[in-house]
Amino acid sequence: MNPILELRDVRAAYDAITVLHGIDLSVAAGQVVALLGPNGAGKTTTLRIAAGVHPVTSGSLRLGGRDVTGVPPRDLARAGVCLIPEGRGVFPNMSVRDNLLMMTFTGRPREQLEEIAFSRFPILAKRASQTAGTLSGGEQQMLALARGLAVDPAVLLLDELSMGLAPMIVAELYEQVSEIARQGVAVLVVEQFANAVLDFADHAAVVVRGRIQKQGHPEDLRAELASLYLGSA
Ligand code: ATP
Repeated sequence: MNPILELRDVRAAYDAITVLHGIDLSVAAGQVVALLGPNGAGKTTTLRIAAGVHPVTSGSLRLGGRDVTGVPPRDLARAGVCLIPEGRGVFPNMSVRDNLLMMTFTGRPREQLEEIAFSRFPILAKRASQTAGTLSGGEQQMLALARGLAVDPAVLLLDELSMGLAPMIVAELYEQVSEIARQGVAVLVVEQFANAVLDFADHAAVVVRGRIQKQGHPEDLRAELASLYLGSA
């Protein structure tokens, strides 16, 4: 499988402190890859590098087989890289409809944006005139995903999708994420608590203190993760 997104021997730092010590990771179209690890392991930094918002100190970032190391985030976004940050990235004081409407900068008409969102997440249609801040955590995450889909991403980067959500809601969200991947999107998802995402990921990697400790089939990583006390979510 040809990777769409690839990190090769990536090192990164905040000021003089190196936090990633040679990360190798690749995601193909149609694949969900989970990057798991404890607090402070370097998961968010890895996503920020993939989106071009944090520089590498060495190593390379590749997109569709092309070296894009150092390419500014707006250009990576134009090339189809979409980061959904932790905390969901919706505008809490705006309605669901207006949150979607803001994505018309993509050139898609409002009706199409609503169609994309409401066909995948019918509950959002019911909540259309509600302000996003009053939605449940799961619904906010759905709205964030729907906004991400508006850009027709080739690569979707998801940070802690499951944060603070009930297991049933998490499973529902991951079913949609798998479905999005099946349509040809390369999905890289970061989670601290592992079990839910392991059921849906095609490949998983465990990162500890800025190094990939192990990667492979999600089932083969359960023991590794249990020993890291990564939990039961
Ligand atoms: P968490 O789940 O807590 O977000 P993480 O695995 O995503 O953890 P990162 O956020 O990538 O980890 O952090 C990796 C390391 O970099 C940590 O030691 C963290 O303290 C440090 N770090 C992260 N952001 C900054 C920053 N803006 N300035 C300085 N150090 C930072």
